[in-house]
Amino acid sequence: MEVVLAEKYGFCAGVRVADKLVRRAAGQGLTGAILGQVVHNESVESEMARLGFPTVDTLEDARAHEGRIVFSAHGVAPSVREGARALGLATIDTTCKFVTDIHKEIARSLADGFFIAILGQRDHREVVGYTKDLQPGTFGIFYRLEEVAAFDWTGITRVKIVFQTTINAETFAPHVEEIRSRTGEVRIADTICYATKENQDALKVLCADPTIDAIVVIGGKASKNTKELARIAEQWKPTYLIGTVAELPVESLRGLSKIGISAGASTPDYDVEAVVKRIEAL
Ligand code: SF4
Repeated sequence: MEVVLAEKYGFCAGVRVADKLVRRAAGQGLTGAILGQVVHNESVESEMARLGFPTVDTLEDARAHEGRIVFSAHGVAPSVREGARALGLATIDTTCKFVTDIHKEIARSLADGFFIAILGQRDHREVVGYTKDLQPGTFGIFYRLEEVAAFDWTGITRVKIVFQTTINAETFAPHVEEIRSRTGEVRIADTICYATKENQDALKVLCADPTIDAIVVIGGKASKNTKELARIAEQWKPTYLIGTVAELPVESLRGLSKIGISAGASTPDYDVEAVVKRIEAL
């Protein structure tokens, strides 16, 4: 069985940096705790725990881990940083540069009198980081188009649209038009991450290849950009979304001749390599 890897897949630059920073700290003999998954991937989470950096849910939990906390690539709200300082925790900040730029963009836009319209998922850690400390009434979060239509835009005359880094711009173009039709001045901060887009574009190339029978997308269950890859692939080919090689649907793949592979921005190379080897052995 032939395997074709997407030209671009897996770890993005931000996640590579996060991974490296934690590994470097572990290499120096340090231990600590990671506030929420360092990336949305179960294999990476287990590997980090093995290195002495388990995942915890609260800052207080970090006290039991040498009093050191790691902020993930998704970033955190300023109040979380202050909370860590107040508890006397040492920090390792792996916030992706793109996410930091968006925090700055939001702060600047609010100071300039804009209402912030975040196009993204309310429960995504990145979005939680952007909005946790904002005053109610200064921002809105919109994922479904109906949410834009149902929102009360009365009195909002200047809007800055900010995208969660990992969403698909095409899907949200109607949201932008809907906001334009309901308010006055609308400006767009182009904050979609190129890494996610590159993975999506490379996957579309595989999907357009008529010789490929099915697509396997590898990534963590909580990784929204991985799910987005699977959603794109499903429109073209039979698609299997798996966390690791253990979930590979071997029986469904038997008899096929060519399989395309992509992986989310938080999927480590070793998970991809294991899947490739297993399929090639079929
Ligand atoms: S997907 Fe993009 S924004 Fe998110 S961590 Fe990776 S490089 Fe940064």
